[in-house]
Amino acid sequence: MSRFPARAVVDLGAVRSNARTLGDLAPTAQVMAVVKADAYGHGLLPVARAAVRGGATWLGVAQVTEALALRAGGVTARVLAWLYAPGAPLAEAVAADVDLSVSAPWAVEEVAAAVRATGRTARVHLKVDTGLGRNGVPPEDLPAVLDALLRLEAEGAVRLVGMWSHLAFADEPGHPSMAAQAAVLHEAVADAERRGARIEVRHIAASASTLTDPALHLDLVRPGLALYGLTPVPQLGGPDRFGLVPAMTVEAELATVKRLPAGHGLSYGHHYVTDRATTVGVVPLGYSDGVPRHASGVGGAPGAPLGVGGRRLAVAGRVCMDQVMVDLGPDATERAGDRVVLFGTGADGGPTAQDWADAAGTISYEIVSRLGPRVPRVHVGADPADAPSPRIEQEVP
Ligand SMILES: *Cc1c(COP(=O)(O)O)cnc(C)c1O
Repeated sequence: MSRFPARAVVDLGAVRSNARTLGDLAPTAQVMAVVKADAYGHGLLPVARAAVRGGATWLGVAQVTEALALRAGGVTARVLAWLYAPGAPLAEAVAADVDLSVSAPWAVEEVAAAVRATGRTARVHLKVDTGLGRNGVPPEDLPAVLDALLRLEAEGAVRLVGMWSHLAFADEPGHPSMAAQAAVLHEAVADAERRGARIEVRHIAASASTLTDPALHLDLVRPGLALYGLTPVPQLGGPDRFGLVPAMTVEAELATVKRLPAGHGLSYGHHYVTDRATTVGVVPLGYSDGVPRHASGVGGAPGAPLGVGGRRLAVAGRVCMDQVMVDLGPDATERAGDRVVLFGTGADGGPTAQDWADAAGTISYEIVSRLGPRVPRVHVGADPADAPSPRIEQEVP
């Protein structure tokens, strides 16, 4: 399948289906598929195309460079980029028809300069810090930023198409801060409209609120994690509870399989010691590939789960830079080259990205998005009309 003895197989059919499911869950809103960070590790362009096939009319990214990569790949859907620092290539973004978020007064200046440089009108979304305390203009600074944007709009330099925000407690459905944050956004929009703004899209919901709170869907929802078939609210159940299908399966070939006697330590520090003569395997993926070292099997506790031939085993001992160990048991029939699944759809009780997150004390976002560049992405299930070039699609990013 590839020369590297491991891969992330990304099911684009699952991405299309998840995009459709999210659209059905938010029938009053447009779907902005969030594809930042190389589509959470799944591969930017194939995922973006699949999301559009699944009905997403917008794509969302953090960095301007990510938006430009979408355009360079021929993606024509609306694209919003929301995180950049002074000196970002905003003129290129405006020339490439990318919508830009504005989160600070300096950004208004830089957007205006990009408009002068390109002679094109910029579409902007004003981000309001309604309480997250991260990016966005605090309510008390809004009037000045709004005045500046509406002046530029009167000159034809910008179109203020969006006002938006992001939630602090979306993964705790029902948390009272969410209605309060939404109220601050609604108040800001009402004020802008009193001053003559004509806002096309108001948006505040990422995956969690798309899945759990229709009152927050507004005109557009911005799901990322759910597009990949994972859930930000695992306390409510697995992805299947929402009709989502995990898109990524990470698998490897066993590099070495051998017998070891009882009482033999495995991996650095011998945190795992065989309790009987057994067969052990080496899985050729490690922390440099994004396998969290916190998922080690140490102190008598099993590490993160591994699926081997329909059995559910666990990482034994320390996760190393390039490899992890597994105790296959005294009666193992596995041989070098046999397949090990780190995580996948979870069908038939197989391990999931959520299992890995639980084992490592983190969230599934981090498990998929930190998968390293050395691991080839293999995209399957592309819509034939998207005519992927297999060579390019499988290249290491
Ligand atoms: C990453 C991000 C999203 C998507 O979040 P998910 O929880 O993955 O759905 C939406 N909006 C903003 C501003 C983000 O940074």
